[in-house]
Amino acid sequence: MLAQPPLDVVVVGGGTAGWMTAAALAKLLPRACNVHLVESEEIGIVGVGEATLPHIRGFNEKLGIDEAEFMARTRATFKLGIQFENWARVGDCYVHPFGTFGRGQGEVGFHQYWLRMMHDGHLVAELDDYSLACTMARQGRFSLPSQDPREISSTFNYAYQFDATLFAPFLRSIAEQLGVRRTEGRIVNVELDGESGNIAAVELQNGERIAGDLFVDCSGFVALLIGKALEEPFQDWSKWLPCDRAVAMPCRTETAVTPYTSAIAMDAGWRWRIPLQHRTGNGYVHSSSFIAEQDAMDALVAAVEGEPLVDPRVLRFKAGRRERSWVKNCVAIGLSGGFLEPLESTSIYLIQQAITALVELFPEKEIAPSDRDEFNRLVDLEYDRVRDFLILHYHATERSDTPFWDYVRTMEIPDSLAEKLELFRRRGRVVKYREGAFLEASWVAVYLGQRVFPEGHDMRADLPKSDALAGGMEQLKTEIRQTVHAMPDHLGMIARYCPMAA
Ligand SMILES: Cc1cc2nc3c(=O)[nH]c(=O)nc-3n(C[C@H](O)[C@H](O)[C@H](O)COP(=O)(O)OP(=O)(O)OC[C@H]3O[C@@H](n4cnc5c(N)ncnc54)[C@H](O)[C@@H]3O)c2cc1C
Repeated sequence: MLAQPPLDVVVVGGGTAGWMTAAALAKLLPRACNVHLVESEEIGIVGVGEATLPHIRGFNEKLGIDEAEFMARTRATFKLGIQFENWARVGDCYVHPFGTFGRGQGEVGFHQYWLRMMHDGHLVAELDDYSLACTMARQGRFSLPSQDPREISSTFNYAYQFDATLFAPFLRSIAEQLGVRRTEGRIVNVELDGESGNIAAVELQNGERIAGDLFVDCSGFVALLIGKALEEPFQDWSKWLPCDRAVAMPCRTETAVTPYTSAIAMDAGWRWRIPLQHRTGNGYVHSSSFIAEQDAMDALVAAVEGEPLVDPRVLRFKAGRRERSWVKNCVAIGLSGGFLEPLESTSIYLIQQAITALVELFPEKEIAPSDRDEFNRLVDLEYDRVRDFLILHYHATERSDTPFWDYVRTMEIPDSLAEKLELFRRRGRVVKYREGAFLEASWVAVYLGQRVFPEGHDMRADLPKSDALAGGMEQLKTEIRQTVHAMPDHLGMIARYCPMAA
């Protein structure tokens, strides 16, 4: 029996990572820990990060958060996926949807039947037309998914686009109700135990000392504990993901409030467009090796489709992650642990995965190396997969019209991605994993959207008779079209379900 008194957990940082961690620990492990969060309002939070993945719904559910209230409070809109413009070629446009292609029920993935029809010389519609989420996104319609797996309206998933500056305060109110203690103040020193090398306490500018058994570093890019105090090395991935700056500038909404995020390729990176209830978020993620900051700012200002609400703000970062996220008695979650640019809205997802792993592997006072190692294995796996997925968007391009696109098109890629690409190029196969972000449909959407076309298809897709397959596909397309037609438009749905307070 490994019973023990509750651990004193100190969470350093009150951004999205800090408050998500504090709220989750207090809710899910109330007998195992006492949570104390330290943050400095003077330093503030990153405060961008408006687009999410569907997994966040599971996180909110675990915390007992009411969806409509959460969306109203964070001024959120629905997100069905990401629309990529100009990526493989200027003029191209595709959607990476949250959901399956087809009904997701065949012997093999729907794209295999679609490929077989193409290879047999049949005239079939774009793959997007067989995805409910893509069709909803394109037509700007939304209703909540059906829970009945027989219904076509059960074949999509959704996430949110929300105001990142409102999410942490929303979580704070929940965490404090659950008993999380909060201290305001700037940490000026981290005290290490001379013998074990563990963190013993953090010291604030006003002289207060906060001791703990376990420290969660949510201090953002500064990585106060894991980086500065424990000196855990950072694996730099910028040779594969050269974007290292973003200029952000929200504007008034003067175009459609789309139920999807837009990622529009630019000369030296890409631009996000994220419509919320009260404004539209915009930013130009770019590489400082290929464009000057001022030029990136000018390009963003020229591109936004509404009156700017503030001056452009520059954020600097580096792609990569810590060698280990859990070192001694310190667990890094959020930007302190690593950063992958927001192309597929993965940061909050990675925070959530790390929290889940911490809850599952929550330690005793004497931390078992096996718990720590397993945590690090799980976190590394997630980062490495997301890294490969992001690199695919850049590398699988035909563009050579600017030095940036020429570089990413011709750069060397990790072996793990080269193997995945080869697998897809031959017969449209996707490396399988049971859980995590970006399952088969996501990879298929991006491969095909980036013009990676397989030479063959899975032999099992040859089983159905050609006529039956063609008829079934036509019927599916019609059913999707009719189902979407009957849905409310996105803004109408928001007005009914989760309008922000006036
Ligand atoms: C350009 C850009 C776009 C992004 N877009 C997305 C997106 O679309 N989707 C997504 O999921 N994510 C996105 N992200 C990532 C997302 O913003 C972050 O992952 C998320 O906000 C978590 O940040 P954090 O809590 O780790 O750090 P921060 O928000 O930086 O919080 C750090 C906390 O530590 C505290 N702190 C720091 N130093 C001290 C000190 N000395 N003493 C006391 N307290 C201290 C600060 O006060 C603050 O409370 C984006 C990030 C960037 C840079």
